[in-house]
Amino acid sequence: MARIGLVAHDDKKDELVAWAHAHHDRLSAHELWGTGTTGSRVNAATGLQVRLLKSGPLGGDQQLGAMIAEGRLDVLIFFIDPLSAQPHDVDVKALTRLATLYDVFFACNKSTAEAVLAAL
Ligand code: PGA
Repeated sequence: MARIGLVAHDDKKDELVAWAHAHHDRLSAHELWGTGTTGSRVNAATGLQVRLLKSGPLGGDQQLGAMIAEGRLDVLIFFIDPLSAQPHDVDVKALTRLATLYDVFFACNKSTAEAVLAAL
């Protein structure tokens, strides 16, 4: 069982929810964590049990980063919107930096998320 973090920027939330729905059975075998809005949407749409952190712009990205630094997260699935400026860009950068630094599985788009899930 892996500990998986789920995050999606606003314009990518539908895509992440659809992805989680499509992979419900496989994801249900893992421990899921999510930023507030993303996690709530996945829970409501799929019936999965994503444990909820704060909303990303209110500290949820930082919470996931802390989990990575403390060895409490194995995988980060983060559907990033490359076409919109984010008010919490510094938090996004900090999270992606820690995911890279600690060498966790890190998918920032759907194709890579498919590959990571298949590899678990
Ligand atoms: P949210 O946060 O799931 O609470 O919207 C995502 C983000 O970091 O933008």
